[in-house]
Amino acid sequence: MTDCLFCKIRDGEIPSEKVYENEHVLAFNDINPAAPEHILIIPKIHISTLNDLKKEHTQTMGELILAAKEIAKLKGFSELGYRTVFNCNEHGQQTVFHIHLHLLGERQMSWPPG
Ligand code: AMP
Ligand code: ZN
Repeated sequence: MTDCLFCKIRDGEIPSEKVYENEHVLAFNDINPAAPEHILIIPKIHISTLNDLKKEHTQTMGELILAAKEIAKLKGFSELGYRTVFNCNEHGQQTVFHIHLHLLGERQMSWPPG
């Protein structure tokens, strides 16, 4: 997709602080962190929202979650714990319409989320 912020980050047209990458996903630091560690994990293919998921995206979505686990381990906060979040559309407060998994760590989270 041509006018997508995260596609541009994937393509290196907009800079990011890369944390992790493999064949399926790219992870970089959130520009406005909500925790001491706040990483966004995106699929390399453009998918706008969770509502657009199809059966063929099963592996890609699994790769996002596996990457979150791997990054938490690499960063050293996996045992203390962390929060993973997908926001969808208006009520979910999604602002960038390229699916991304938020990975938040290194602070105590609360529940329910706001
Ligand atoms: P969401 O509200 O779930 O769509 O999350 C979008 C996230 O992208 C927010 O947490 C923003 O802080 C983050 N963000 C927006 N622009 C950038 C950017 N250029 N680099 C890194 N993170 C960004
Ligand atoms: Zn995109």
